[in-house]
Amino acid sequence: MCKWLTNLFKKKLMGAIPPALVLPHPEEPGNPQATAAAVNIIAVRQAWYDGWRVSLNGRGLFNPVTLNLVENLAIVYNGALVKVPAATYAELLRIDIDPKWANPGVLAHESQHIFYSWLTEDQRLKFAAEYFGMAETGDAMLSLVVRHMAGRDPSWVSDIREIYADIYRYLGDKMPESLKPFFPNMI
Ligand SMILES: [Zn+2]
Repeated sequence: MCKWLTNLFKKKLMGAIPPALVLPHPEEPGNPQATAAAVNIIAVRQAWYDGWRVSLNGRGLFNPVTLNLVENLAIVYNGALVKVPAATYAELLRIDIDPKWANPGVLAHESQHIFYSWLTEDQRLKFAAEYFGMAETGDAMLSLVVRHMAGRDPSWVSDIREIYADIYRYLGDKMPESLKPFFPNMI
């Protein structure tokens, strides 16, 4: 991603948030007491389906995805083990989740790494073009998502796969109309 475009995008979007605007699906807190034995991941999946009003088509596509609860989940990142809330292996149709973070919003995010992997290259390019094009207009809801992402991990703001996942995770079917065609199985 070119740096000037990212910077332009940050400047335009971050300054454009009306004070009363809130995310339709705000961040859910982790549950430090949760264990793999105590969490019903199928119920969490259902809460995502219902809360985000996932289409029947989307549910049918996602149902075969294996959801593994892994306590103290960690992945190798830059040669070191790093704790993460969840890790998605799209090609294996598998999502590993730390039970502390097994909530509908995290699943909504992770699921989109799988749905993104099913987009064609052309759809991905058009999604990125549409998204960065909206930076020019300073769309308020997108601004809110970006501010949230930047507060958690600034590197995500220029990672189109994380942007894709978080637009869906925080906005669901309240996302801007022009982005909905890129989430054909969800909305
Ligand atoms: Zn992600």
